[in-house]
Amino acid sequence: MKFDAEKFRENLAARLRRQYGKDISQANRHDLFDAVSASVQEIIMPAWMATRSQYEKNPTKQVYYLSAEFLMGRALSNNLINLGIKDEVIEVLKGMNINFNLIEDEEPDAGLGNGGLGRLAACFLDSLATLDYPGHGYGIRYQYGMFEQRIENGYQVEHPDNWLKHRDPWEVKRSDLAVTVKFGGEIKYGKTPDGQDRFYIANAEEVIATPYDMPIVGFDTNTVNTLRLWQASSPDGFDLQLFNDMRYNEAVFKQNEAENVSRVLYPNDSGPQGKALRLKQQYFFCSASLQDLVHHFVNNYGTDFAKFPELHAIQLNDTHPVVAIPELMRILMDEYGMGWNDAWSIIEKTFAYTNHTILAEALEKWDIQIFQSLLPRIYQIVEEINRRFLIELRAKFPNDYERQNRMSIIHNGKIYMAWLAIYAGFSVNGVAALHTDLLKNVELKDWYELYPKKFNNKTNGITQRRWLCSSNPELSEFITKRIGHGWEKDLTLLKGLEKYVDDNESLEELIAIKRHNKDKLVEYLKHKQNEFLDPESIFDVQVKRLHEYKRQLLNVLHIMYLYNRLIKDPSFNPPPRTFIFGAKSASGYRRAKSIIKLINTVAERINNDRRVGGKLRVVFIENYRVSVAEKIFPAADVSEQISTAGKEASGTSNMKFMVNGALTLGTMDGANIEIFEEAGKENGFPFGLSTEEIQKMEEEHTYNPQQYLERNPALAEVVEQLIDGTYDPSHQIFKELHDSLVYGVEGQRPDVYYVLADFDLYAKAQEKVAEAYKDKMSWAKKALINIANSGKFSSDRTIEDYVRDIWKVKKVVVADEDIK
Ligand SMILES: *Cc1c(COP(=O)(O)O)cnc(C)c1O
Repeated sequence: MKFDAEKFRENLAARLRRQYGKDISQANRHDLFDAVSASVQEIIMPAWMATRSQYEKNPTKQVYYLSAEFLMGRALSNNLINLGIKDEVIEVLKGMNINFNLIEDEEPDAGLGNGGLGRLAACFLDSLATLDYPGHGYGIRYQYGMFEQRIENGYQVEHPDNWLKHRDPWEVKRSDLAVTVKFGGEIKYGKTPDGQDRFYIANAEEVIATPYDMPIVGFDTNTVNTLRLWQASSPDGFDLQLFNDMRYNEAVFKQNEAENVSRVLYPNDSGPQGKALRLKQQYFFCSASLQDLVHHFVNNYGTDFAKFPELHAIQLNDTHPVVAIPELMRILMDEYGMGWNDAWSIIEKTFAYTNHTILAEALEKWDIQIFQSLLPRIYQIVEEINRRFLIELRAKFPNDYERQNRMSIIHNGKIYMAWLAIYAGFSVNGVAALHTDLLKNVELKDWYELYPKKFNNKTNGITQRRWLCSSNPELSEFITKRIGHGWEKDLTLLKGLEKYVDDNESLEELIAIKRHNKDKLVEYLKHKQNEFLDPESIFDVQVKRLHEYKRQLLNVLHIMYLYNRLIKDPSFNPPPRTFIFGAKSASGYRRAKSIIKLINTVAERINNDRRVGGKLRVVFIENYRVSVAEKIFPAADVSEQISTAGKEASGTSNMKFMVNGALTLGTMDGANIEIFEEAGKENGFPFGLSTEEIQKMEEEHTYNPQQYLERNPALAEVVEQLIDGTYDPSHQIFKELHDSLVYGVEGQRPDVYYVLADFDLYAKAQEKVAEAYKDKMSWAKKALINIANSGKFSSDRTIEDYVRDIWKVKKVVVADEDIK
């Protein structure tokens, strides 16, 4: 990318003049962020247009990644890095007396996702563009993204995330491509205007879907793909008649009703949902996306849909977009007059499904009533799909009525979205080796027996452009100095760093870089939260959504145990440690919220106890999100990945920690297993019960938490402290938490996630961490070995796996001459 500094400067000034009527000296930080971003967008635009026209010119298969979530974070720094002009732009700005870092911090996160699933979608888009694959995202332009979390009196309080308060400089509204999505109404059969007998819907509620496009800039390539997000609005707008009659609320009722569809992201991470508005959101973006694809196809190739699967691979990110399957059937049959069999043969070659969870409660199912009244024709199509499926199933298992009932897409008054995806699609993938094995052998065993060839594994990954180049420039330079460039597009090249694992100078430099990154995090927390951290201490970090299966509770109970030990035994002298947490809880998830309160209560207590003497500190980082994550991973020494074995599908923060040189303290779960495999177990701290051991206890009902309390008085003391007034004089706040561990509440088994069963093993692993940290050089060596062996965990590798086994798309290279 050629960069014209003079032109950039002129552009920037012109922007400020046009948009804000200001010159540089009058502009505030936000004006500057907006004008700089707009000037960068102008640089992106020609390549974006050229990419689109290349895709039009040589009709080749393209990937469409349908996802209810895209956790993009900020775009400015990432776009500059991928364009290869970050240093140049910083230089130009410096010349104008503008500090890039301050401008960068003005950008709100595009937080259109809950956690791992949404961030994976964002990493995939970056990798697709970087590897020159024609692949795009389709989702929802939520007006409010993931809520802003504030901690008040130790409790999580949710505030709306108004990320579009100012305009978004990256998006382009495409009103010309708006489509209509219909809800409710009655199914009719009869003559359409062109004289065909077809099904259609009468008296439906109509919502307009308008696309907003964001450029996805590849690294060191001309490819710029598209993330297309749909916004809902009313076709009727506001009612002037009612307004004139002073019925103001009624005048805007329809408008509000329609706009509510894309109003807000449901802040629920792998939990039950079942709300009608959520189903509306799902159908809204799936219908709009498929109409968009079909319109484009018909405009270019006419109505010979047999070619459709040759040009489209549609990946369904979890079950949220599965309603796209019957929607494509509806479009093909009701709008283009295809017969069932022809339409179905297209479906079977087009859709592939990714499963993201083994938690039974997270498998999405919809009440028939809700589904049918909202989407009557779609429901009718799902019924017919199921009727045909059951015929097939009965032929295979004629006398197995149990199985027929279990596997029916519709049963017990509900529609099982995962079943629909597995039956209709040609591929089902899990997101780490263990997870895929559990799908095949436990969770989706019936389905694996029926369609073994559909099942495959695609271990998740993360993009090194954001999680290393952009967030950890010093480590990036360290790497390049030793192995040269190239790793930015081929992370396996990091293996070349193994030459340096016994080179003291390299290890000293690595230690200095980690220290500097810790200093930067310390500075950030001083400003943001008035927290004072000791950068000499071990930064022991657990950042992820707050969920019982992720076991932040195990971490806190261990901290309480360490605290007791420190107070009782003055000779106990571990290396100083700072435990850092960051986590949002779903708004209605009471127990998760109690755990946040507990962390903050324990922090308050320990941080203000002089007897601790700086050996222990606990920090809860407010409002954990992508832009904060980028400051945390480079500063971490220890990566806490302590989920109950068998429960975390993959995890991706484990990978971000690894490439940034943190050592994994983790269970044999999800992708942790593959991390230990790549780095060697001796370069991390694996611990805990195995999936098999837990499965066994589960099946035989042999788990008794009481045993563990009796065996370990120090653990019993900690658990008792939840209710004995040590942390809470009312004895009430943590009672439910305590009882859930010891007795089980509301008909649940006690300690569902085996926190107490793993406590001893965790405490022992933590002692090893403390011991290992005393030898700084040997710790740094382990860190470097982790970095050198993190190549597998690039999302570039994941995308190549999807391309080879599922999508079968070819690269389309945009040449410099193609850009006008
Ligand atoms: C990577 C990431 C996650 C996923 O973390 P896990 O530990 O894998 O659950 C969640 N939120 C943010 C902001 C992330 O960057």
